[in-house]
Amino acid sequence: MRQLSLIGIGLIGGSLAAGLRTVKAVERVTACARRQETLDTAQYLELIDFGSTDLAQAIDGADMIMLAVPMGAYRGVFEALKPIWPKDAVVTDAGSSKTSVIEDAQAVFGEVPDNFVPGHPVAGTERSGPAAAFPELYRHKRVVLTPQANTRADAVEKVTAMWQAVGAEVHCMSAAHHDEILALTSHLPHVIAYQLIETLAQLDDQREVFSFAAGGLKDLTRIASSNPQMWADIMQANREAVLASMDHYMTDMQRLRDLIAGADHAALEDHFERAKQARDRWIHTAEVH
Ligand code: NAP
Repeated sequence: MRQLSLIGIGLIGGSLAAGLRTVKAVERVTACARRQETLDTAQYLELIDFGSTDLAQAIDGADMIMLAVPMGAYRGVFEALKPIWPKDAVVTDAGSSKTSVIEDAQAVFGEVPDNFVPGHPVAGTERSGPAAAFPELYRHKRVVLTPQANTRADAVEKVTAMWQAVGAEVHCMSAAHHDEILALTSHLPHVIAYQLIETLAQLDDQREVFSFAAGGLKDLTRIASSNPQMWADIMQANREAVLASMDHYMTDMQRLRDLIAGADHAALEDHFERAKQARDRWIHTAEVH
């Protein structure tokens, strides 16, 4: 790649820049952010060669452009890009929900541009900003692309090659299917982590409760330290699928409550045994791959 231009240079954009630089798959990286301070940090960390709060300046000369801004900023970024839409470059994104991105693009452009490849790296941490970026973030991780019927095949190939260069495995699927799966595997766990901490924090004796918490609570709720604005954006962007996953979970939670309330120890043990086996199988498969 000659020039990658990142619109948003935080954990996700910064880690892509760092990874591509490490394997020398890009000659130049530029970025746009709202705050000059963010760009200065990214330049100091040698994630980018040039940064500008002016979108047109930041993407000038790009052959690959990646949107890595919070989901709530998409519509505004598409509107700002419209008059300067780079027909000769490939444009992709990293947003955590895909139907909303496609709808935002349709609302602004009428039809999703054929050089725009919606995507989502299924990788992250609870940290934000360029200082959180690291080159190995995408190694052995999956990236989902959700091309539309009119998306150019060469654009999909270029985005695929970019992610493969940083060690990721690329899968294509429909935006709706992506959103349903990610609601279950990523968005629902964030709902649970945030709410569990919030429930405990609202207790009158919360100080004492937290003082007796050990590894289990910490492990289960690490992701409740994630950026609240980003996650409020994601929950709203993928609202329908998130609500469906919460309804499903609450029904199952009620079932578990009934099991605990009842006297059937064997049924409760069976329930936990099935969950343990499912988790052990998943972890084993993930480690083998
Ligand atoms: P982040 O670390 O908070 O970085 C966001 C970047 O976007 C910052 O550089 C911010 O710049 C910039 N920005 C915000 N609004 C902007 C605007 N209107 N115009 C230009 N730049 C703007 O967030 P992130 O974790 O990299 O997430 C970026 C995207 O990736 C999100 O859509 C998220 O859903 C998705 N994603 C996140 C994860 C994860 O685990 N974090 C995983 C996969 C996908 P300023 O500092 O100047 O505001």
